[in-house]
Amino acid sequence: MIVQKYGGTSVGSAARIRRVSRRIANTVAQGHQVVVVVSAMGHTTDRLIALAESVNPEPPARELDMLIANGETITAPLVAMCLAGMGVPAISLSGAQAGVRTSGQHSRARIKDIKPDRIVEALGKNQVPVIAGFQGVTAELDITTLGRGGSDTTAVALAAALRAESCEIYTDVDGIFTADPRVVKAAKKLTHVQYDEMLELAAVGARIMHPRAVEIAELYSVPIHVRSSFHDRVGTMIVAHVPMEDRQRVRGIAQETNVAKITVVGVRDRPGVAATIFEPLADAGISVDVIVQNIGRSGHTDLTFSVAESDLKAAEKLVKTAAKAVGAQRVSSAAGIAKLSIVGTGMLGTPGIAARMFRALAEAGINIEMISTSEIRITCLVSRDQVGKGVRILHHAFELDQDLA
Ligand code: ASP
Ligand code: MG
Repeated sequence: MIVQKYGGTSVGSAARIRRVSRRIANTVAQGHQVVVVVSAMGHTTDRLIALAESVNPEPPARELDMLIANGETITAPLVAMCLAGMGVPAISLSGAQAGVRTSGQHSRARIKDIKPDRIVEALGKNQVPVIAGFQGVTAELDITTLGRGGSDTTAVALAAALRAESCEIYTDVDGIFTADPRVVKAAKKLTHVQYDEMLELAAVGARIMHPRAVEIAELYSVPIHVRSSFHDRVGTMIVAHVPMEDRQRVRGIAQETNVAKITVVGVRDRPGVAATIFEPLADAGISVDVIVQNIGRSGHTDLTFSVAESDLKAAEKLVKTAAKAVGAQRVSSAAGIAKLSIVGTGMLGTPGIAARMFRALAEAGINIEMISTSEIRITCLVSRDQVGKGVRILHHAFELDQDLA
């Protein structure tokens, strides 16, 4: 059994729906059981959100979900009827009909469990179930959505619930690359990437897969195949362990440009200060990223951290109030920053990776404003106008433009 998920571009027009349906029909003809998950056509979700905001700038969350879930609800029957026209019996199912039960947090609901009775029943009748991705239903039968890009999560969760052999994510790119191919011409498609690497890459700017889909895949050991719906070449496998020969120190480079920083200058070096500053941000749902606190000198210290630039205004206001409360000297901020990250499990226990990254950036005259690391990632904050150059320099410095030995 294979779960195939088709993204918005892949089903963006009638012609593309026909092409996708032919691929599904071929997979069925090869003897597979196929469960299909679809996204909304093209930019439908964006258009529905814009429409909502044109009648109410702050649409109630429940109503917004009720509206935007319809994007997927349109694609599923179109694919099912296209398949029927090709002589392949198919049945479309909404998230609710497919048994996708979620929490009640609208626009970012979490899948609680899946009762795939209707899917199993359809498969038993040799019908291809075509499921509307991105949507689910609460215990009270309210319609929810899983967050932008959430059809990936529907697909992987279904693959886990049905114990499918694999989950294929069909998209408009050829797979996962060593860097964004629009930024680095020499970027190479990876044959394999590990779940943990994909999660780190997604967290620092690679936008191919919904991170929660990768989390679920890792938890239930569902292999994911990210590939293009526009040709038959294989894409990238996301798995628990990459083959031995593919082990490489740095797997990929990601960039994120929506970054700003805030500095609280001259705070007293005592317990509770960081908590007082960060709590209001947490309450407002603003995530704080790279955090740097200097070693205290003469009882005072500076605290610098990054936020999404789109959150900067709101964050600054909250931080100024909190800074006053803890008696800080002042608050400063800067926009126009970017994050540059290298990711790879191969760097575990390999000395010198950080030094090589910093040297390469130094030789290119790129100043590092902040640094943060995990076991398999190093991130540098740099000026936004240098991020493209930085990605290219690092891609070369870590020999990602060369074929794997
Ligand atoms: N249609 C939804 C979105 O655009 C979900 C998805 O495509 O995965 O975010
Ligand atoms: Mg997507």
